Parts: sequence; structure tokens; C-alpha cells
Amino acid sequence: MIPITDNHIHLDRRGKGIAAAKEFANAGGTHLILVSKPPWTVGVRVKEPDGFKPVFEETIDIAREINLSDIGVTVFTVLGVHPAEITRLTDQVGLKRAEELMIRGLEIAGRFVSENEAIAIKTGRPHYMVSDSIWDASNRIMAYGMELAREAGCAVQLHTETAETSVIADLAAIARKSGLPPEKVVKHYAPPMVQAFKREGIFPGVLAGKGAIETALSEGSRFMMETDYIDDPKRPGAVLGPKTVPRRTKQLIERFGEEVFWKVHKENPEQVYGIEITV
Ligand SMILES: [Zn+2]
Repeated sequence: MIPITDNHIHLDRRGKGIAAAKEFANAGGTHLILVSKPPWTVGVRVKEPDGFKPVFEETIDIAREINLSDIGVTVFTVLGVHPAEITRLTDQVGLKRAEELMIRGLEIAGRFVSENEAIAIKTGRPHYMVSDSIWDASNRIMAYGMELAREAGCAVQLHTETAETSVIADLAAIARKSGLPPEKVVKHYAPPMVQAFKREGIFPGVLAGKGAIETALSEGSRFMMETDYIDDPKRPGAVLGPKTVPRRTKQLIERFGEEVFWKVHKENPEQVYGIEITV
């Protein structure tokens, strides 16, 4: 049996929650990298320095419940602060305080990694146009997230603007400056530019939409697959569903063989996150 890993998924108890993990398992999925949801999507308004803590605890709790169940899926958690948070928080409390709160959120995420409750820190910078001051603050926050990852000896998952070649190089440079090897950086929501990422050392989490994985495979097998399923009851069809990665993998095995998918679903995540993927 081949392991099948979704590199970036969210679960929400007000959405499908655990049932989505069951759908994933029934389609042949074995491992989930579960990423904490932005606080505003789970009804949390971060006002205090510890404001992110309950959001992370909820992610850990969902992971634990699945891991202890008989669903047959192993869940690893990634905790962190969504870069778009800076716009919301700046509107509420001003930029200086927003930066402090986000830094604090990343520190809490780093602590959970040290306690083996999470495998990576999520950070990044806005994917939309922002003012220079917000852009600069976002870059400081992302670099700090990378420093925390270096200290904790873990990877980061990045949410950023569209990864063009120049962006990939810039992200790798910021990682190196922060003391984090680019090989510990995962670009979430990545286009299938496998070679461009390989040149800079960063690992792409390729969105498993139509045709993307075929394109990625035409360039190599140094990537992971993901859905970014958001489990939002108000937007059920807005994103790829939880069955997408196992379904697509099984279809593509017929054309590309199993070996490349052992790399995609086991060796690559094992290498970048320092975890063990066994079935
Ligand atoms: Zn996401």
C-alpha cells in the first residue's frame, strides 16, 4: 500500500471536520498535514498576546482525535499566523501592535513545535497589494518565523504572493538570511514549477488542480501535493475537496507508475518535515 499525503489541508468542526478525514481515508489517503485556520474563520478575534493559542489548541485537538480514532489517517499539524491577518489586525489595533501580536503568535507556534505538538510553522506575506509599511512589517514577521523554525529545528510553510521565479529566489534568500536552509521551506499553493523550486532549494506544495500534477511530473518528482481544502460550510465547493489528492494520485499512478508517488507522498515530506510516513 502506498502512502498518500495531503500537504496542506484545514479541518473545521463547524464544517465537515473529522468526516472530511474519513472521506480522505476512504479515497485511499493516509497522511494529512493539518494547518491551523486563520482565527477569523473560526470566530476568534485576536486581541491579546496569547490570542492565537486557542486557535492552535483547536487544530491540535482535531489532529489528536483523528490520530486516536480508527480512521486510519495520521495527522501532523502546522501552526502559525496567516499573513492576511496583518490587514485585519492593523485596521483593529494599528500596525505596530498587529506586528507584535503576529510575532507572539509565531512564538506560541514555535513552542508547540518544541513540545512535539506540531511539525512546522506557518508564516508568509500577503498575496495581495499592501502599503510599503505593511509589506516591510510582513517581511520582518516572515523572517522571524523562519528564525523560530531554525531554533526549533523545523520547517516553515509559506503563504505568499504567486511564486514566480524571482519570488522563489527572494524567499530562498530571506530564508538563508534567517539561518534557515531553503530545504526547510515549503511554498504552499505552489505552481508546478518543480525545477525552479529545486534550483532555489525550496519545496513546492503543488495544488492538485486539473493538469497541475501532470505538469509537475514532467519536470520531476521533487514536490508535494495539496488541496488547501478549507472546510468552510459557507463555501463547500470553493476549493478542492478532501478526496482530491488520493483520487488524483490513483489516476496518475496508472500513467506514471507508483515510484514517483513514493517520492511525492513519503520521501519528500519525510525529508522536509523530519517526520516518518509509514503505512
Ligand atoms: Zn490554507
